[in-house]
This record gives sequence, C-alpha cells and structure tokens, in this order.
Amino acid sequence: MRAAAVFSPCPSSPVFPHHLPHRYPKDPSFRTLVSISEATTRGRYVGRTGECSSFVWPRVVPERIQKSRYNNQIFASIADISVEQSIENVSLPKGDMWSVHKFGGTCMGTAKRIQTVADIVLSDPSERKLVIVSAMSKVTDMMYDLVNKASSRDESYITAIDNVFEKHMSTAKELLDGEDLARFLSQLHIDISNLKAMLRAIYIAGHATESFSDFVVGHGELWSAQMLSYTIKKHGNPCSWMDTRDVLIVNPTSSNQVDPDYAESEKRLEKWFTCQPADTIIATGFIASTPQNIPTTLKRDGSDFSAAILGSLVKARQVTIWTDVDGVFSADPRKVSEAVILRTLSYQEAWEMSYFGANVLHPRTIIPVMRQSIPILIRNIFNLSAPGTMICQQPVNENGDRRSLQSVVKAFATIDNLALVNVEGTGMAGIPGTANAIFGAVKEVGANVIMISQASSEHSICFAVPENEVKAVSAALNSRFRQALEAGRLSKVEVIPKCSILAAVGQKMASTPGVSATLFDALAKANINVRAIAQGCSEYNITVVLKQEDCVKGLRAAHSRFYLSKTTLAMGIIGPGLIGGTLLDQLRDQAAILKEKFNIDLRVMGITGSKTMVLSDTGIDLSKWREIQKEKAEVADLVKFTKHVHGHHFFPNTVLVDCTADTNVANHYYDWLNKGIHVITPNKKANSGPLDRYLKIRTLQRLSYTHYFYEATVGAGLPIISTLRGLLETGDKILHIEGIFSGTLSYIFNNFEGRRAFSDVVSKAKEAGFTEPDPRDDLSGTDVARKVTILARESGLKLELSDIPVRSLVPEPLKACSSSEEFMQQLPNFDKDFAKEREEAEAAGEVLRYVGVVDAVNEKGVVELRRYKREHPFAQLSGSDNIIAFTTTRYKDQPLIVRGPGAGAEVTAGGIFSDILRLASYLGAPS
Ligand code: ADP
Ligand code: ASP
Ligand code: MG
Repeated sequence: MRAAAVFSPCPSSPVFPHHLPHRYPKDPSFRTLVSISEATTRGRYVGRTGECSSFVWPRVVPERIQKSRYNNQIFASIADISVEQSIENVSLPKGDMWSVHKFGGTCMGTAKRIQTVADIVLSDPSERKLVIVSAMSKVTDMMYDLVNKASSRDESYITAIDNVFEKHMSTAKELLDGEDLARFLSQLHIDISNLKAMLRAIYIAGHATESFSDFVVGHGELWSAQMLSYTIKKHGNPCSWMDTRDVLIVNPTSSNQVDPDYAESEKRLEKWFTCQPADTIIATGFIASTPQNIPTTLKRDGSDFSAAILGSLVKARQVTIWTDVDGVFSADPRKVSEAVILRTLSYQEAWEMSYFGANVLHPRTIIPVMRQSIPILIRNIFNLSAPGTMICQQPVNENGDRRSLQSVVKAFATIDNLALVNVEGTGMAGIPGTANAIFGAVKEVGANVIMISQASSEHSICFAVPENEVKAVSAALNSRFRQALEAGRLSKVEVIPKCSILAAVGQKMASTPGVSATLFDALAKANINVRAIAQGCSEYNITVVLKQEDCVKGLRAAHSRFYLSKTTLAMGIIGPGLIGGTLLDQLRDQAAILKEKFNIDLRVMGITGSKTMVLSDTGIDLSKWREIQKEKAEVADLVKFTKHVHGHHFFPNTVLVDCTADTNVANHYYDWLNKGIHVITPNKKANSGPLDRYLKIRTLQRLSYTHYFYEATVGAGLPIISTLRGLLETGDKILHIEGIFSGTLSYIFNNFEGRRAFSDVVSKAKEAGFTEPDPRDDLSGTDVARKVTILARESGLKLELSDIPVRSLVPEPLKACSSSEEFMQQLPNFDKDFAKEREEAEAAGEVLRYVGVVDAVNEKGVVELRRYKREHPFAQLSGSDNIIAFTTTRYKDQPLIVRGPGAGAEVTAGGIFSDILRLASYLGAPS
C-alpha cells in the first residue's frame, strides 16, 4: 500500500512559481499587471508518497512543516527542499514503467467526462503514469475569442470571460467538493481576475502581442489539469499536477511552429520531478515556455505533440491518445461515412495523414516518439471496447503480405483553404537557381509551402500555400521577378484560389504500379479536374490539388475506389410510372445483393413525377417508395430535384434515370451531362430529336467521362444498341439493319392470320394492354421511325426523323378522329384494305410484317409493311417479340439476329437496370 500523498497548496509560492520573473512576457505592462496578483498565491502541490522501490523520495524537513492558510493540512513548500540534495536522492526514472496518456478536449468536455478520464487513469495498472490533458472542449476557442475581442476593442470580452469562469466553476462544482473545490475555485478566481486585468490592457492598447495571447489561451489547460488532478486525488490516489510551462522549453520557428529543446526540457523535467515526485502526474498539454521563460504554446491542437515530447523524455512504454473516435480512420469520418478504422499504421503513414489534415493527430506528434520507437495508441474514450489504432515502427499489414492496391493505400486526407501558385515561363528552363529564388521569396514572407510540383520541362513550378498567405506570396514573387516578367522570361505568376489538397497515404504506394492510375481514374470518373500533382520520393503519399468545391466528392470517389472497392451511385428517378415504378421495384429487390456481392451501392436520392417529387438525404427506403411518395411528396421541380440528387456530395457519382417519354425532360440531358451527371434512359426523344442536339450530346459524352446510356430506347431489354456498338467498335461495318421494333405491331401482324379482321386483332391487342391508350400512337409508325433514327445515327448516318418515310397504318380518314373509341369504332370500315394486302402476300407464300430498315450503304431509313417468305425468321415470330437482323461486312451471308420480347414494363425496366450496372462497372465496380 502506498501512503496517501500530501497534496496541498503552498501559499508561499507565487502565482507563477519560483522563477516567476522569467515567466512573464517581457512586456513591462504584463509585468505590472500580473504583479498585482503576486501577493496572492497559486497552490503548488507537493506529492509525497511513502513507499517507492526504485528511488528515494525527498525528505521534507519536519520543522519547516507549516499550516496551510487554506486549511489545516500539512504541506511543504518546494523551497523547503534542497535541490542539490533532491537531485542526489531522486532522479527521474525513465523507461517502460511509464505509461503516457493524452486526453483531448472532447474527453475533458464535461464533469462527467473528466470523471471518466479519472477512472481510466486510475484503472491503468502501470507503475507510473504521466497524463497530458487538453483544455475542456471549446475552451481554447473561447480563450482566443477573448483575445480577439479585447484587441479589437469589443467590450463583450467581459461577458465572454464570465462565461469561461462560469463553465469551469460549474464543472468543478459537479466534480469536487470540500477543500479541494474551495482551493480550485479560489485559484480560478485569481486567474480570472488576472486575465481580466490583462485583457483590459489589451483592450486599451487595441493590440495583443503573441506572448500575451499565448499566456491567455493556455489557461484552459491549466484549469483542466488541476480539475483532473483533484478528481484523481479524491479517489485516494497520490497525484501531482504539472504546469508544463515549467518544463517544456521550445524555440519558435519561422513558420508558426515551435521546435522543442529536448535537452533543456529533460533537465527541467528532472528538476521538476525531484521537487514533486509522484507516480501519477497530470500535465497540461499545449503550453510551454521559450528559453527565456516566456509562455508560449505548441499551436492549435498541440496537446498531442506535448504528450509525444513528454513521452519521449520519460522514454515511456506507450503513449495513448484518447479522443472521440475509435482510432485513425481511412478518411475523415465526418466526410466519408464508409471510412474504416485502421488497426495499425506506420509512423510515416501516421505522419503523412496528420500532415495532410487528419486532425486526429497533430502532425508533429510522431517525430519525438519515432526516435525512440515508442508506440502511439489512439483510442476512443466513449467506446472502450474498441481496440484503437496502433502507430508503430513496423505495423502488421492488415491485408497480409499481398501487395494489392488496397494494402498499399491506407488512407486519404485533405487540406482545405489553399491557393495554388503557378510560376511559368520559358526562361526558367535550364537556369539553375530559379526554384531557389522562388522559394527564397516565399520564405521571406514566412509562407508555409505545403506541396510543390514542377513540370519536367522546367517550364513551370507550382506550389500550394495557405489561402491567407497567397497575397503576400504573389506580391513577393512579382517583385522578386519583376525584371524577368518584364523581359518575358517569365510569362506569369498565376494564383489559383480556393483549392484543396487530397492526399493518398500508404507505405510504398508511390512505388507500386497502378496506384496513381487508379487514383486519377477514380477522380476522372467523378468528373473532377486535377490541378496539380505531387508524388513525393518518400513513397508514402500521392498528392493532388483540386478545386475546393470538388474536394469532398474527390475524397469519396478515391476512398470508395481504393479502400472499399465499392462503387456508390446517387440516383434520381424521373417518371415513376409503369416503367419507372417497375425499375424501382427491381432496384428494391436487388440492392442488398448488389451491395453485398458486387460492392455496388445504389441509392435513390429522389423520385420525381410531373406533379410531385420526394427527396432524401441518405437514400429512399425502396421497400416503401410508393407510400413515401404519397405521404412525403412536395411539388415537383426538376431543377431543385437535380440539384438535390447531384449536389449531394456524399456520393461521388450521380445518375439521372429518365423513365418518361417527355421531350422536356430530354431537353435537359446536355446540361446534365455537362455538369458531370450520368444519364440513363429508355426515352427516345433525345436521340431521335433534332440531329444537331443529338450530335452535341454525343460529342460531349465522348469528351468527358460522363456516361449516357439508352439501351432500352430500342428493343426494351434486348441488347440492340450494345450489339451494334460492339460490332462498330471492333471494326465491323454496318450494311443494313432490318427489324420488327414494335412489340405492338409485332403482336398485331403475328396474329393477323387466316380470316381474322385487322380491327379485331387491334382491339384484342388493346384489351391485352399491348397498345398505347390510343392505338393510333402505335399504328402511326412514328415510334418505329424513332427507333430507326436512333439506330441509323448510332451507325453513323446523319438522318433526321423527318428523313424516314413511314407507312402509317392509320387510315387517312381516321387520323382526324377525336378519340380512340371513335377510331376503334370506325376501324372495321378499313378491314377490307388490310385483308387485301394479306391475301396478296399469302398468294405469294408470304406474310406481312411491319418493319423498320436502316440502309447504311445508301444512307437511308424507312418504316414500312413488308412481305416475307414463310421461312424467313421474321415470319416465325410469336407474341409481341422483337427481332432485329444486322447485316455487316462480317455477317454478310447470314445476318446477326437478336430476338426476344421487346416490350413490357419488366423487360424495359430490366434494360434500364442493366445500363445502371454497366455504368457502375464503368465507374470501377468489379465485373
Ligand atoms: P481531440 O479534442 O480529442 O484532440 P480532435 O478533434 O483534435 O480531438 O481530433 C479528433 C477528430 O479528428 C475526430 O473527431 C475526427 O472527426 C477527426 N478526424 C479527421 N480525420 C480523421 C481520421 N482520418 N481518422 C480519425 N479521425 C479523424
Ligand atoms: N486546447 C488546444 C487547442 O484546442 C490544444 C489541444 O487541444 O490539443 O488547440
Ligand atoms: Mg486534437
């Protein structure tokens, strides 16, 4: 059993301990301000444990034991301990006995969370524990805000500091009681009045120096560390708290960073320890001092870095960084919901991740621990069952030794708010020192260059800097290269604002073939333009610069492609009628299998009819799409619909599926494709509409990675367009296409046999639902003419719909009938004419068939009622089957024939569905 520590404040030591005069910023005003509180005191805790095997504890001289003025506890001032004697007697133990923990702001967010932190610390059985804490969540922001307000002479800093006080007071009241609470509150009170005085001075001056600001903002950590140490002590565990400004010495660097002085910090830590040896130490993260003892910070999110430095100073067994996520994810989980936890990462991978913006770890955390091969474990305080991510020298490869793309690319990270600077000109080639001059100028303005890329021609150098530094950089370059620009040796210094970096990180990835190609392919297929590329020699990352607006989309596209090999598609379904509705049902039945077996994630983000629409942020539950459409519909608005489905950056790819026969919808295709939205449709209106518009769409499609599929426009689900494409793409030449393209007319003529009257067959077809509501829409032949136009254009002919002569089966006098009923009533009057044509054919051993023909040789198309010998394949049809014969240079004697059901909701929807899957496979889904 250990003896309880004597844990008490020392009234004789000032707010800042023994080296007070050095602690303050040098500004005289600071000195004066703070001196008002010098008379008041801050508690210093002297940890004193009884039994300790490895070293001798300092002995507190009994005569000097005094009574605390806060309470009657026994305490001893550090001044009571002879340093020489202590150093002799107590040296800082180093090595595996130390376990280091760092708790982030989220872990320290509330009293309850601080209690959880205390429980975790208490349950660590390690011999020695060094615990580094951040300020309570949001407190550092609040502190920066105080400084900003005061320096811009905004009086509201007073209420803001009261809020800070309130927050800590109420947290402490929840956590602590009795004397500990009184002591903490008294200290808080003193700190707040000092801060008020200081902020007042800042307010009057209208300016805050960096050291003033650093002094103010570091208080969050001072308070959280004290609250945690009191909480741990409350459980009877001996514990000291450490103001790391006493220990951690850092030198500022030019680029708003600091470099630790390890030797000096180690010396100070040893000294600190001799005065306050304890086996549990709670240390403030984030704050440090300059060699001149001026308070400074390790910059935003710097507590991770504090933990790593202190961990390396005590040569800890492990540094555990506790946060609010299960570990390091393969991408920022706030941006990529499919991101997965990485069980292990190498130091280099973790460094690259944090450098490129994964704020789960401060970028500088790795260096100190890597030197001594101390592993870092990232864990979730809210999910203790998660094992976390281990960052160490030689991590186990989660995917085995297989060097698959997935195993070399570990993760993705992004940095926003960058600008790309491009220095370009022929005068740069072969001139030594140009790069040096460029970066020399950049360095002079203190800008931080995040990545550099130089074209091999040496014609241009481009680099990324934070957006807020680009103005100064551009001015410096223009001034430095004024002569070269005037003489034309440099053509320009160009700034491309609003950029982001997307970095793919992984061991040896740059040396594995195919990684860059896959990354660029994924980005291209998501229609994202890459502005610059850098592949470091480190082999740990490939970096691309994108427009900021594309960044999340690019991140998702790359992540899903590499890591999950899942292809995700956001879909918008237009026209949930018979065909659209059937498609939605088919998607409903197949979605889970596609996701599980083929890694294709299809999400219907919206369904719109002509009057109403439904939208969803995560994907409509297709098991109840009809009910949802009834209950949650809003007024249809195609522009809003498109914006919703496409603007949803959750998925990298969007497809709009037009299941209408509407020209107005078809008129949007060009615009959609132009925006990078893929289009799939059975609607014939675009491809058989005005030729110039069709050609524009096809040209656009060929120029981009955006896809336009329309297999179901001809022959429903039958592979007509794809067969034709296959022939053409493999170098075959189309001579002639002839076919029965209308299911309705196929049915009518297959049944127009023997003595049956034409009108009777039409009326049976209508009853069976094979015709349009007005059978004239089928009999007119326009629909077949549209299909002929589509196939003719697909074969390379430049025909308009009006160029196709069509034999209409609607008798001339009946064209004017006002209703389909009237038409059906009058149709028998013309049975004789149809019967006559049939008899003539029969007499020659032939049958009548309504066909469409593309004559590619003579560049013509026609739709007519032709006669075929009884043995001809067209004469053998049954039901409503389609049949299409392709005569080509390869298939000259025997045409290539495609036959099967060419109408009906199920097969048409099936054709659309297979286009959707084709799109997914073009986008990277496994085939
Ligand atoms: P703390 O206050 O604990 O230091 P931070 O907010 O600094 O917490 O860091 C944790 C956050 O980092 C997570 O909540 C997560 O949203 C974000 N983050 C960004 N990229 C990643 C990533 N690749 N893996 C895990 N977390 C990430
Ligand atoms: N509290 C500091 C910040 O918010 C340091 C940290 O939490 O790591 O930046
Ligand atoms: Mg952090």
